[in-house]
Amino acid sequence: MTTLIQTTAVKPRTAPLALDAGLIAKYSTQGPRYTSYPTALQFTDQFTADDYQRHLLRARSIAAPLSLYVHLPFCRWLCYYCGCNKIVTKKPGVAREYLDHLAIEIELLTTEIGATRPVTQLHFGGGTPTYLDDAELTELVHLLASHFNLDANQEREYSIEIDPRTVSPDRLALLRGLGFNRLSFGIQDTDPHVQQAINRVQHTEEIIALVGAARAYRFNSISFDLIYGLPRQNCTTLNHTLDDVIALLPDRIALYHYAHLPARFAAQKAIERHNLPSASEKLAMLSLATTRLIEAGYVYIGMDHFVRPEDELAQCQKKGHLQRNFQGYSNTLAPDVLGIGVSAISAIGDSYAQNSRDISDYYKKLDAGQLPIDRGVIKSTEDQIRAYVIMQLACNLRVSAQAFTDKFSISLWEKFADVQPKLEEMQQDGIVIIEHDGITITETGRMMLRNVCMVFDQYLNAHTQSYSKTI
Ligand code: SF4
Repeated sequence: MTTLIQTTAVKPRTAPLALDAGLIAKYSTQGPRYTSYPTALQFTDQFTADDYQRHLLRARSIAAPLSLYVHLPFCRWLCYYCGCNKIVTKKPGVAREYLDHLAIEIELLTTEIGATRPVTQLHFGGGTPTYLDDAELTELVHLLASHFNLDANQEREYSIEIDPRTVSPDRLALLRGLGFNRLSFGIQDTDPHVQQAINRVQHTEEIIALVGAARAYRFNSISFDLIYGLPRQNCTTLNHTLDDVIALLPDRIALYHYAHLPARFAAQKAIERHNLPSASEKLAMLSLATTRLIEAGYVYIGMDHFVRPEDELAQCQKKGHLQRNFQGYSNTLAPDVLGIGVSAISAIGDSYAQNSRDISDYYKKLDAGQLPIDRGVIKSTEDQIRAYVIMQLACNLRVSAQAFTDKFSISLWEKFADVQPKLEEMQQDGIVIIEHDGITITETGRMMLRNVCMVFDQYLNAHTQSYSKTI
């Protein structure tokens, strides 16, 4: 039997998180963020609305909690860096038409899955969820509350993405009243010149006022999204952004790399390439941001995310309970995710199902009384085995050989004997530690987490070019 455990292994480097330019150059490639496995590139139209209906019916009798994701696709303005599924419009009545179709979809869904499972997670994403006005947001929450068992427990995670240009402190009070307890602010960068270059001008004073209001209204968690690699950004501007961000002490920070792919995302054509920072400037910015956030007390949990050490995500990761779904990291165990709205993805049982990505098609199917499914996949046993390893590594930075054997009745080492040389090379590079009882990601390896997960991804080679950079 081939074994992955090297008795003569080179002593791995376990230094605190540090950016080694040589390692970054070696491991900088394109790869998934693993919010699902298999990823959406494996979804096909062979998975139909009938398949989805069967999975919903099967999920009806399960007592475990449920997670809801509602996609609200409209935006008032176009951010030039955007790669999201969104519709930029100021046309009156679009939200009304969309709400009417959400009502049809919710009715169809609850006919199958029922209304009893406690909804412990709810996320409004977009687009811009706060494109909806106060009455429309209230109507939508009422619609959900009248069809699902929304959880009253304070442990619930009810979150909404906030475009600071579309909310006031008073709107935050309304959102708190509607039951949201987590806010995710799209900050990106606070430098006015960078903001002009990406067509997203939002004043820092307004963000300060909103964060103050969010704390006053007792939102449990405040997250900021930041992006590095944007036009007109450099270490000096980013340093100022980090000053602004650290002063506000958000509980969580997602620091994303800007992927310039104008051939795929037309909006990005407005960003002039000569304004973009070079690869070495981007590495310097990543190093700067990582150093400053860690010095400010944040823990890097992996996959672009920094959190306060007392945050539940850091605590869950320590205990090995962290999980990941399409909305990112999460601490609450809700095994099934019901996606609602155009392009939304559901994870029900062993299936992933995605709604139509085209709004006309989404409306057409609902008007015909059909679940608006476009594509999906049913996970094979092989997928489930690989998904387990990838999610353990991505969330808890470790996969236990014993837990793997207990779950799948096979040895981790035998099952993945073919990737032994790759893992050994990663051990030599100080990214992982391979021991008899499992594989552990080192502090250095947290930056290359996606690369380690990719070792266990059997679909990767055909699709590498479709993903963003791993580092
Ligand atoms: S970044 Fe967000 S707000 Fe900007 S266009 Fe994209 S989805 Fe809309």
